[in-house]
Amino acid sequence: MDSDILVSRTRTATTAQGATGYLTIDLAALGRNYRKLVSMLAPVRAGAVVKADAYGLGAERVARTLYGEGCRHFFVAQFVEALRLRPTLAHDAQIFVLNGLQPGNELACAEMGIVPVLNSLAQWRQWSAAARIPKRRLPAVLQFDTGMSRLGFPKEERAQLAAALRDGTNVEILFIMSHLASADDMDSEQNGEQFAEMSRIADEFPGFDISFANSGGVFLGDAYHGVLARPGIALYGGAPNAGEKKPMEPVVSLDVSVVQTRTVPAGAKVGYGGAHVTQRETRLATIAAGYADGLPRCLSDRGAVYFKGIRLPIVGRVSMDSATVDITALPDGALTFGSLVEVLGRHQTLEDIARDAGTISYEILTGLGDRYDRQYR
Ligand SMILES: *Cc1c(COP(=O)(O)O)cnc(C)c1O
Repeated sequence: MDSDILVSRTRTATTAQGATGYLTIDLAALGRNYRKLVSMLAPVRAGAVVKADAYGLGAERVARTLYGEGCRHFFVAQFVEALRLRPTLAHDAQIFVLNGLQPGNELACAEMGIVPVLNSLAQWRQWSAAARIPKRRLPAVLQFDTGMSRLGFPKEERAQLAAALRDGTNVEILFIMSHLASADDMDSEQNGEQFAEMSRIADEFPGFDISFANSGGVFLGDAYHGVLARPGIALYGGAPNAGEKKPMEPVVSLDVSVVQTRTVPAGAKVGYGGAHVTQRETRLATIAAGYADGLPRCLSDRGAVYFKGIRLPIVGRVSMDSATVDITALPDGALTFGSLVEVLGRHQTLEDIARDAGTISYEILTGLGDRYDRQYR
């Protein structure tokens, strides 16, 4: 009995308080972001890209929320992600594997009703063979490379693919797609180049629906929308392009606990390598998040966290499990053991921290790690 009480107390303590950090995921804001994209796209449909655990936010919760908003097309990158997601979604939801299948997964994929994106003649042959054995029609999406040289049928394979289609096939092509490399930059010439190449492909493969736009593409205008858009980052509150106005609502906030505070004299070394030396008497706080929690190590002596709107610069190197911040700007005693500082929230957006780290919002989100207490609202 006593031990039962202890266990339940411990559980409460680790879920409601005492965590090293609180990652809050606002599912209502996610829903509003989806609805905003839907209204920009209508009558074109909005799918959702939920690869990499929905950019780190939890693919299951995110996909179920979006399903509730009417989303029926879900894109993951890898087959294993589709396998995990399949049981949580109703049968009228389709799951597409953007990277396609590695050899050996065909039967499992067919059995689970998961749809591969075919990116090459090699993947085409592999899926066609799977469709031949039990003589059944197997669905697939064809992805074309329009100038990114990453995934998709390269130009040289198009004639052979067209010939294979003319010869007849058991592969049922649901739609064709391509991916924009520079849609986050509305002025990039590459957008127009890729659009022109997609138009040529549409002529060579007539009669198929087209999926083209990612988040940035939604904001490039109707011409880029096809019949099904594939937004990812915009759903999760990231800026779809480099424009000044941030059209999406933040979905993620992150508060991290203070482990220890101290006052050090001028000339004190802070962190690994003694890389930071204080110029004056300085008050410091050690916070319970490091690069293993998605606070990039390159934020050493660069980034900041916030407390009640006041900027607290990161000093010294970011450690694996902690980082040290300068709290001299705060009134003495304002921040103590157990206080929470804002890493992502009202004063620091995803784009802010990504800029300081020399990276993009996507990498910040997918790096957040699993040591925070996650709260879905
Ligand atoms: C990741 C990805 C997307 C989503 O891109 P965002 O910029 O996050 O909107 C769409 N399509 C493909 C093929 C992708 O790989």
